[in-house]
Amino acid sequence: MSATRKRILVTGGAGFLGSHLCERLLAQGHDVLCVDNYFTGRKDNIAHLLGDANFEAHRHDICFPLYVEVDEIYNLACPASPIHYQFDPVQTTKTSVLGSINMLGLAKRVKAKIFLSSTSEVYGDPTVHPQREDYRGNVNPIGPRACYDEGKRAAETLFFDYHRQHKLRIRVARIFNTYGPRMHPNDGRVVSNFIVQALKGEPITIYGNGEQTRAFCFVDDLIEGFLRLMAASDDVTGPINIGNPVETTVRELAETIIDLVGSRSTLETRPLPIDDPVQRCPDISRARNLLDWEPRVPLDTGLKRTIAYFDKLLTERGEISGKRAKLKA
Ligand code: NAD
Ligand code: UDP
Repeated sequence: MSATRKRILVTGGAGFLGSHLCERLLAQGHDVLCVDNYFTGRKDNIAHLLGDANFEAHRHDICFPLYVEVDEIYNLACPASPIHYQFDPVQTTKTSVLGSINMLGLAKRVKAKIFLSSTSEVYGDPTVHPQREDYRGNVNPIGPRACYDEGKRAAETLFFDYHRQHKLRIRVARIFNTYGPRMHPNDGRVVSNFIVQALKGEPITIYGNGEQTRAFCFVDDLIEGFLRLMAASDDVTGPINIGNPVETTVRELAETIIDLVGSRSTLETRPLPIDDPVQRCPDISRARNLLDWEPRVPLDTGLKRTIAYFDKLLTERGEISGKRAKLKA
């Protein structure tokens, strides 16, 4: 094996982000081991990679130890959508805590560099805006989102303790809302929900008054940020925000998607979920300075690519006719 070709483990590799990451790592010539329990991931996401001799998929729950020999680990395993991480909240916390302990133990044994996909949810419902990495957050430790938020906070703690105590080489990325092809059509996240609803001509479900904000990053930009962080010098441990600092309200997002799809969908309001953050937007100065990274794909462009993906998927499944109005140029 050449010096630059690495053996890389991606946990959660059959998920939305994981499958894109596996694809990029294979394109760089690495030997990729994808580990997933298929809770929210799909074999379809990695089917096109199975013929590659450098790719291997293994069904495994990271709450249990894993013995493999690798040079780098990207620990992405964890459901990311509120409806999925709240489905079995105890398993969600276990995945972040036990899963991180197992992957950190593996990294320690084989002296691998290890990456954690943490989240903007560690900031909870933020009182500081935009969110910088030194903001400590406003998280409800006993609410329905806590299994995810506190699970990730504990995972970050574990990563930094393994770093201080065992000198492990760590990278911690705090990911803000990301979207793109291969999002699960039923995973309940706002971009996939709105696109599927718009394509089917169903009402767009706005939770609350729609004035809450998020900042949406296209998946290709995000993965580029992951690769740069992993490749950075070992003193760049993070935490480091990776996201697109262009804030938009949920209502604006709905209107943009309706417009891009050319849909007749109407807007329908639903109750706001408990502890739903009011405002979220990353400060990415640290990523700009340390990784020379910033998003390149504007929201309209990324949405068009995502709409095209769902259009094809729903047409193949016979859920839409495929005769809808063409995307606006
Ligand atoms: P996803 O649900 O598509 O992918 C998660 C993957 O992990 C799935 O394939 C799932 O089957 C797998 N998984 C879950 N529990 C597991 C376990 N115990 N053992 C093995 N595999 C397990 O979600 P995603 O959007 O691809 O998110 C990937 C990572 O990025 C997650 O850690 C998530 O917390 C983080 N993140 C994502 C976003 C986003 O906007 N997509 C934002 C913040 C953080
Ligand atoms: N949301 C919405 N309608 C939907 C799904 C989500 O209005 O059909 C809102 C949700 O309440 C939140 C925002 O969109 O304010 C982003 O939700 P998502 O679940 O995508 O991510 P998160 O809340 O974790 O940022």
